[in-house]
Amino acid sequence: MNRRPECYEIHDQRFAGLVQGNAHLRQLATGFEWTEGPVWFPAQQVMLFSDIPANRMMRLTMDGNCTTFRQPSQYSNGNTRDPQGRLVSCHHGTRAVTRTEHDGTITVLADSHDGKRLNSPNDVVVKSDGAVYFTDPTYGILSDYEGYKADPEQDAHNVFRIDPKDGAIASVISDFTQPNGLAFSPDERLLYVAESGSSHDPEVPSIIRVFDVQGDGSVTGGDTFCTIDNGLPDGFRVDTDGRIWCSAADGVHCFAPDGTLLGKILVPEVVSNLCFGGARGNRLLITATTSVYSVPVNARSAENR
Ligand code: MG
Repeated sequence: MNRRPECYEIHDQRFAGLVQGNAHLRQLATGFEWTEGPVWFPAQQVMLFSDIPANRMMRLTMDGNCTTFRQPSQYSNGNTRDPQGRLVSCHHGTRAVTRTEHDGTITVLADSHDGKRLNSPNDVVVKSDGAVYFTDPTYGILSDYEGYKADPEQDAHNVFRIDPKDGAIASVISDFTQPNGLAFSPDERLLYVAESGSSHDPEVPSIIRVFDVQGDGSVTGGDTFCTIDNGLPDGFRVDTDGRIWCSAADGVHCFAPDGTLLGKILVPEVVSNLCFGGARGNRLLITATTSVYSVPVNARSAENR
């Protein structure tokens, strides 16, 4: 293993072609409580992210200009963009998933299942057919730190799917300890879901699991795709070639489509999530504890459609 200047660990020579050896990790903004939920809006050249315990969402431009986008944010966590370019967000406070319409009004997409409140939606992704998939661990109701302490009503910590036609909410995965980040492969035949249960139980493996997406939107399988060897997997993104760029305690870990660890980008704070963005879509925008960092890579998001 060779360490490049400053912030790169090359575990597989393929990674050398994915990073710019002379490019530095840059801190774009800092001073937050816990950053999460990065999402890039190409048309506006703006990144939004959550500062969860501060109960606010921030708006950041690539010159480092950072302003409040929404406060209170109902303790927003994960965010994504749907195929129509609308913001879709998870909220611990209202235990809901919402969509912000183009006119600024907010539509609740899900806040209960089987007549019982959701736990605390954590992260979300929208398939090209409009189906919304989101994870529902209990982090936001464990205490009053990043939501409101409450007993879970759901029997499981599910991954849910919201049907694009009728809005019906169905559990598609129910055997996670704490499901967290999730993303589709470029062809949307695979769904990857992070298991972050080791946050409270060291017996739970820090893994990303892979599922086969069926024609009706349900999923099967669930084998281990990769293991995070430092900390746990929270949010992650998939690039156009099917590689996974995942959060970890020591930075961002990049995995080949076969699960091989290619390399790491070391970040001085614990990473929670990341997205691709910037003028040409080839910058990793990284939410890490109190800060947001940026670094150019030779990869682009599979979802920046
Ligand atoms: Mg998360």
